[in-house]
Amino acid sequence: MESARRAGKHAVCIIGYGPVGATLANLLGARGIPTLVLERETAAHHLPRAVHFDDEAMRLFQAVDLAETLLPLTHVSPGMRFVDAGGKLLMDWPRPQDRGAQGWHVSYRFHQPDLERVLRDGLARWPAVSVRTCCEATDIVHDAEGANVTFTDRRTGAVETARAEFVVGCDGARSLVRRIMGAGLDDLGFHERWLVVDVLLRRPRPDLGDWSIQFCNPARPATYVRGTGTRRRWEIALHEGEDAAAMEAPEQVWRLLAPWLRPDDAELERAACYTFHSAVATGWRSGRLLLAGDACHLTPPFLGQGMCAGLRDVANLAWKLERVLRGLAPETLLDTYESERAPHVRAYIELAVRLGGLINTKAIDAALAVGARAPEAEAPRMASLAPQLGSGLAAGWNGLPRRPAPQPTLQDGRRLDDAIGYRGALLLRTDVPLPASAPDRLASRDVALVQDPVIDAWLRDNAVLAAAMPADRYVRGAARDAAELDGLLAAL
Ligand SMILES: Cc1cc2nc3c(=O)[nH]c(=O)nc-3n(C[C@H](O)[C@H](O)[C@H](O)COP(=O)(O)OP(=O)(O)OC[C@H]3O[C@@H](n4cnc5c(N)ncnc54)[C@H](O)[C@@H]3O)c2cc1C
Repeated sequence: MESARRAGKHAVCIIGYGPVGATLANLLGARGIPTLVLERETAAHHLPRAVHFDDEAMRLFQAVDLAETLLPLTHVSPGMRFVDAGGKLLMDWPRPQDRGAQGWHVSYRFHQPDLERVLRDGLARWPAVSVRTCCEATDIVHDAEGANVTFTDRRTGAVETARAEFVVGCDGARSLVRRIMGAGLDDLGFHERWLVVDVLLRRPRPDLGDWSIQFCNPARPATYVRGTGTRRRWEIALHEGEDAAAMEAPEQVWRLLAPWLRPDDAELERAACYTFHSAVATGWRSGRLLLAGDACHLTPPFLGQGMCAGLRDVANLAWKLERVLRGLAPETLLDTYESERAPHVRAYIELAVRLGGLINTKAIDAALAVGARAPEAEAPRMASLAPQLGSGLAAGWNGLPRRPAPQPTLQDGRRLDDAIGYRGALLLRTDVPLPASAPDRLASRDVALVQDPVIDAWLRDNAVLAAAMPADRYVRGAARDAAELDGLLAAL
């Protein structure tokens, strides 16, 4: 057999150029990490997929300076309503219309191909990143220092190999990297077939509304989502034995849409049957191989969190990879990736599964658990919607919730993340003297120091002098006194 051509050496090889791989490439590119992206297809995925992302996702796009480009391509969601088969309101889940603690709205509607285009175009800014589309990874052999990735250029048929210190499989639900790693999949029990239909309205239909609506109709559960522009989405449960091809046929799609829409109202853009699964991989790292996104977790889409979870993965992973590659941390830092992320994504998936159950059965507890309220209830219960990271990286005192630090506007008018850029920060009260060792320590770790009266308020509310916020913005530790502050600095 002809020996494979060599395609160079890289710090990181990302397999898969979906939203998760493209975001990781932007994060690594922004930090100047030599990165190769391999993607089997020539163009981005064309079937209907994500329509919602949250404030944390927008904060991540802000980190790579793409949030303002994305903003005009989004629509702020007013929330979600649950109605019964007769249209009676069962529950209401309004979403705030002002920017919240993360500095962004909590729920954006968008069109996944728009996002993927912005992420891909954004890579042009980073000379450290090279992208090879139409190149399918077929094998990976890894050792203690890195991995050889074999791939086929599908245009020419040429077989090549690339060497990378780390390989990240962002290669979706049927991940080759996961199979090569031998990672297991913990099945969380939800498997249902749904038909997903995107239409483009030909004429205004304000009566459809901007709210997402869950039609809790046991005979045929369905979801309506207002997209951006004239795009509207229906997701409709399929019955056992219904044939996918027959259900995707336009005449059948129009029959299913009849309660809401007629053919002269809209043009069918796409209709596709999906089987929604719920699973979390066990073993997100094997030596120099790692997994992110759909490659290591799958969720039904009822909370709109599948891609968002993948974005959190790469936010968590990117700065840790950089630390290890630059020799600032041992490789074991990468073990905190799964231990922190897996419980977090599992909590979201379990909630989405319960919501799926609600849409099928009208069991209102599941929706109340995510903050929806029954029409007569006084206050929404939002707490369970913000899981914490699992155990992992710890610095100083660990009493603060392992959630994202807020992003306030600082005294000089800049938002926190714009002030620090894409790197970690030590948030320190203005009345606390900086330890003598701190400037060198912060400079050698490229960690920003933030001392600002606005941050003081948050630190005081939490009864701490300082908090450590790595580049993924999740708090990893705090200090209540000088000794703990020393510990915090040592762990940065
Ligand atoms: C109907 C539907 C609605 C959804 N709604 C939402 C929502 O509202 N909000 C949300 O957050 N999420 C939602 N999701 C989930 C979201 O679309 C996915 O989680 C997201 O696309 C996963 O991104 P990824 O980059 O991990 O994987 P993918 O987008 O699947 O990308 C993987 C890439 O890897 C490439 N690849 C695979 N194997 C190889 C190989 N061997 N070599 C090279 N390349 C390879 C593939 O071609 C592909 O481009 C929805 C999904 C569906 C189906």
